[in-house]
Amino acid sequence: MKPYVAVLPGDGIGPEVMTQTLRVAQKVAPDLTFKTGLIGGAAFKETGQHFPKQTATLIDGAEAVLFGSVGGPVDQQQEPQWQNCEANSILALRKHLQLNINLRPVHFYPALTHISPLKNERYAACNDFVILRELAGDIYFGDKSTVIENEQKVARDVAEYNESQVKSIADWAFQLASKRQNQLISVDKANVLQSSQLWRQVMEQTAHNYPQVKLTHQLVDNCAMQLILKPEQFDVVVAGNLFGDIISDAASALPGSLGLMPSASFNPQGFGLYEPAGGSAPELTGKNTANPMAQLLSLALMLEHSFQREKAASQIRLAINKALGEGYRTADIACHESQKTTTSGFIDLILHNLT
Ligand code: NAD
Repeated sequence: MKPYVAVLPGDGIGPEVMTQTLRVAQKVAPDLTFKTGLIGGAAFKETGQHFPKQTATLIDGAEAVLFGSVGGPVDQQQEPQWQNCEANSILALRKHLQLNINLRPVHFYPALTHISPLKNERYAACNDFVILRELAGDIYFGDKSTVIENEQKVARDVAEYNESQVKSIADWAFQLASKRQNQLISVDKANVLQSSQLWRQVMEQTAHNYPQVKLTHQLVDNCAMQLILKPEQFDVVVAGNLFGDIISDAASALPGSLGLMPSASFNPQGFGLYEPAGGSAPELTGKNTANPMAQLLSLALMLEHSFQREKAASQIRLAINKALGEGYRTADIACHESQKTTTSGFIDLILHNLT
């Protein structure tokens, strides 16, 4: 059977940004096959399930997954179509594919300095950096309980890591740092938490296998502050599930819009799922105004990591830079009415810039 990419557009703006992204995919990688499946509320509507069996079968035969977004309007979360939609789709997918590593690149666009919360001179000093977040362990997956003790409710969530979980992401992080600037910052709370002390020990042990990489540690509270004060110091950052969740969202504010942020998740065998960092933005749905960059950059990550097509990935990034440099923007990043382009209009420009 011919290898293919499983495409799961999902809900909200997912289908529209995915349709536009696939126009670019067909141009830069015309030999790849894309097969579409249902996920999230769209799947529930058709099958009564957020992650139906047909979708599991589709992804089991795929080389990679290109995912859109799932979920309904925040004020309709109690409706059956949307209830637990994210958990039933995304967490179920992560579990099904055993995804344990999440990669979030943070890219600074000189043309978009004005939309960043950073001062211009700070923004200009920033280098692109990458955050790696462990996805399968920590407080999200440890024992949980709510019990009555001394006549009041007590809730517990256990933060737990074993050595092999940490080793798996440590190797990824050191290998990525080796391909970049040989600098790795590991984030933990080793002054207080035993799970962080184990995290730090495994990072130190793994460092012996990568003598070219300089490993430093940052406590998570300090890291949160440094991300805002001095983001130019970061190149590759690695963190556990909870701290990685928080610092990657904080870092995504720096370039200026969630609509710019792609992400990739991998399992230990290197199988990848690629998706925008943001959600389904229901208020923008069907208006042809959403920013397609996060989806498009997720495609670029997929071409690079799952298909080793660095040239196609860099073609996409150059075409985006050119469009932004010429002043074209979707509404979320535009300053003036005259700059505004639609979702499909932005992709028309990308296609034009690729030629
Ligand atoms: P959201 O990420 O959908 O939107 C947050 C803000 O970012 C909104 O102002 C939205 O307009 C803007 N935004 C997001 N993507 C954009 C884009 N491509 N272009 C322009 N603006 C963009 O988060 P939310 O509003 O909290 O949640 C909406 C729904 O999305 C909920 O049902 C939630 O469960 C779901 N969600 C899904 C995912 C996912 O699929 N991975 C992630 C987060 C939230």
